Parts: sequence; C-alpha cells; structure tokens
Amino acid sequence: MKNALILLAGGDGKRLGSNIPKQFLKIGSTNFIEYFLLNLDSKIFDIIIIAVKKKEKDKYLKFLKKKFPGHNLKFTNAGKTRQNSSKNALCYLKKYNPKNVLIHDSARPLITNLLIRKIIKNLEKHSSCIPYVYHNDLIKLKNNIKIKNNEIRNIQTPQGFHYKIIYQAHKINKYNDIKDDSSLLENRKTKIKMIKGEKTNIKITEKEDLIFFNRFRKKENRSGIGFDIHKIDFFSKKKLILCGLKINHPPLIGHSDADVCYHAICDSILGSLSMNDIGYFFNNKNKKWKNANSKIFVKFCLNKLIEKKYKIVNLDINFICETPNINKLSLQMKKNISNLLKLDIKKISIKATTNEKVGFIGKGEAIAVQSIIQIENE
Ligand code: ZN
Repeated sequence: MKNALILLAGGDGKRLGSNIPKQFLKIGSTNFIEYFLLNLDSKIFDIIIIAVKKKEKDKYLKFLKKKFPGHNLKFTNAGKTRQNSSKNALCYLKKYNPKNVLIHDSARPLITNLLIRKIIKNLEKHSSCIPYVYHNDLIKLKNNIKIKNNEIRNIQTPQGFHYKIIYQAHKINKYNDIKDDSSLLENRKTKIKMIKGEKTNIKITEKEDLIFFNRFRKKENRSGIGFDIHKIDFFSKKKLILCGLKINHPPLIGHSDADVCYHAICDSILGSLSMNDIGYFFNNKNKKWKNANSKIFVKFCLNKLIEKKYKIVNLDINFICETPNINKLSLQMKKNISNLLKLDIKKISIKATTNEKVGFIGKGEAIAVQSIIQIENE
C-alpha cells in the first residue's frame, strides 16, 4: 500500500460556541468531514482512517461509506488528546503497512488536492514534509520586541511522513500532549522538509473562521433536464394553460391542467436532485390530481430543492410549437415562474422555436417544452 491518510476528527466545538463537535456542524449541505471527502481526489489515498469519538463512529460509519463509495474509509477511536488519536490510527494502519501517511486535521476542510499531491511528491525524496505559511501582518511580542515575519511560520496540516518513521516516533514518545506530529520528529533531531502551504487552508476554530469558510468553500453545482409534450384538444371549449396563464387557444390534453411548461420545469428540478420524475410523485391515475393546478407540482419540487439546501442559479426553457406565439407571452410567463420559484426574473430564459412543419408538432397538433436548470448548494 502506498498512501494512507489519517483524518483527525475527535475534537469538540467549544470554541465555536456549538454543542455539536465542529467537524459535524452542517454548513450548507455538508459538514467539514463530508466537504473534505467531497473535494478530495479519490485516486490519491489507498486508505483513509477517520479518528472520531466512539459514539459518532457508530452512527456515522455506514452513512459516510454509502455517501463516498470511491474512498476506502475506516474509523478508529479518537483518544483523549490529538496525539493519542494520531497514535491509535497509526497503530491501526500497521497491518496495511503503507509507505506514506499524511495526518490531517478535519478542521482544515479547505485544503486542496494540489497541496496534498505536493506533500506526497516531496515524500519521494524526504522522510517528512510539512506545509507552512508566513504572517502578512507586522508581528510584535507583548513586551514590544519586534520580530521579522519570516522568523515565524504558521504550521499547517496535512503533515506527511514515511509511515515507519512517524509510527516509530509515536511509539517511543514519552510526552502526552504534543500538538503536532512533526514535533515528535523534531524532538529526535530529524530533518523536516518544509514547503509553502496555502493561506486558504485555515484551521476553523472560532465563529469568524466559519464566515471565511463559507466564502471560500466550493459550491456543488448540479444541472437537470426536463422534457414534456401534450396533444392539443381542438374540440374542447376550455382554454390553454401555459405557465399558469390562461390563453385563448385550444387546450392541451392531460390528467391535470396539462401545463406542459410547469411539468418540464418540475422534471428538470427533480433531475438536478437525482430524484424520480414528476409521474412518480403525481401519478396520472390518481383522482386527486384530476384537473389539478400544476403550480402544486412546481411548489412540491421547489420544496425538495429547499429541503436539500440548494438554490437555482439559472433556468432555461425552450418551447417547441407552431402556436400560440410564445414571444408575446414570455414576459408574463417569466413573471409567473419568478413568483412561483421565488427566483429573480433575470435568471429565467424562455425561448421558442417551431418544428418547421415537420411531424405532429409541425402540424400544430402538440406543444413540447424543454427545461434545463442549474442549481448550487447553499
Ligand atoms: Zn405533462
């Protein structure tokens, strides 16, 4: 086995003023551990050991394994101190005997794959590799002694080591509360390779750090496509309903109000959330939805979006029909969609094309709509 990662997640949230341990605090749709795993290239590590308190281990293991099947995840018990947690995980790794091990704090979820790869690359020539950053601000000690900024380095994680060396260092160490793993090697006068870290790889400790995290975290973008088509009923006396507008035109045939555009929007939203289609939730054999206002379906889909903590970035709609003239109606249609989805009208586009007289749409017998939506997590 080549590369192993130990993710230390045994801390609490005291300094964040939270009674949930900070690594389990949900920001948007993920907590720090999930955010880290979501952005971690699954090809880098052969195994990932997450050190957590026992009660979290039991309730969390299955969930994480299911959510991240691309990572080989194992859990170990966090110890009383950071050092204990590292040691437990290193002992667990013994049977796998990896060449390299990186030890990372789960409170640094903004680490990039680029820095992780740099550390591993350095382990080809060095037995350890630690990232650091300099201070930008002028530094003064309390007794007014000035020191040069390049004399102070902020040490980050992940810290990378040849497994055998760090395992040995932990095993023979007598002290109980060493704050980082590289100190164990320094105590043994082992030379440590230092490389530039990332300013954005901050340790989230206080409430203010959460604001920083929120601004810099990558948002998850998803898109969804929806398509619907309904036949026109030339013998009905009813009016056509499109995007909630009643239009002087023969109506569409359908179980509900046959609002073909709202149906396509629903399917694009459900698609973007990897859910089933509109027919799954609102069966057209169910009497409850007979002549139903399709607004209900759109609201249902919007609620799913909100529940899963996503918001709409952009909605692009395409009508394919001979009549009615969509361009004349599109502004009012956009206003209705904007009100229904609570979405800025600038983010909605409605276009229309004919089918060039080809097929039954071209003969004016049906109206079809395509909808493409982009969403991002909050
Ligand atoms: Zn439909």
